[in-house]
Amino acid sequence: MENTNSTGKRSSITVLAGPTAVGKGTISTYIRDNYPEVWLSVSATTRQARPGEVDGTHYFFVSSDEFARMAENGEMLEWAVVHGRNSYGTIRKTVEDAAASGKRVLLEIDLQGARQVKESMPEAQFVFLAPPNWDELVRRLIGRGTESPEEQQRRLDTARIELAAEPEFDVTIINDDVKRAADELVTLMGLTPKTDHED
Ligand code: 5GP
Repeated sequence: MENTNSTGKRSSITVLAGPTAVGKGTISTYIRDNYPEVWLSVSATTRQARPGEVDGTHYFFVSSDEFARMAENGEMLEWAVVHGRNSYGTIRKTVEDAAASGKRVLLEIDLQGARQVKESMPEAQFVFLAPPNWDELVRRLIGRGTESPEEQQRRLDTARIELAAEPEFDVTIINDDVKRAADELVTLMGLTPKTDHED
């Protein structure tokens, strides 16, 4: 898993994808909280809000009917059923508006979604977030304790397949440290990493 930037693309839209439990959410939240120049896309989802999640901030929590209506109307830039359960989708207009307003746009989505965006927006920058190694990914997934053992196994099976998709991406970032990986990502987005991070 090397870092290769074969394309040198500098689109204002960056797609961050990678296997389950690799830390995509942590890195995106970190960037949202530290880099106001970056607009982190807020996806629509049919899953229930977890404690502490706010509608319109973490996701737009919608019913299955509403999600289906949005997808049928072409309102989604991409959408997918993730982990065989809930639907997640990027709302096209919000991304276009943010990009038009001059923001750097970050989409944190699953692999299926990343492939769809690659079809419709090949000029976007596609970043694969990889774990330092397989054992670390297993440790993170089990350590966060949010899934049942059956669900953990299912996600690990999916993660093995997802790791093989790395060559489809422009660049790989190894998530060995949240701040370091976030800095690498913002640099790819054309921003200057902050040196005065606070813990
Ligand atoms: P969670 O339910 O833990 O918030 O997210 C589960 C998975 O859904 C993560 O892998 C996340 O990247 C993915 N996801 C979140 N939003 C979207 C989206 O808009 N589109 C797609 N395709 N995947 C998404």
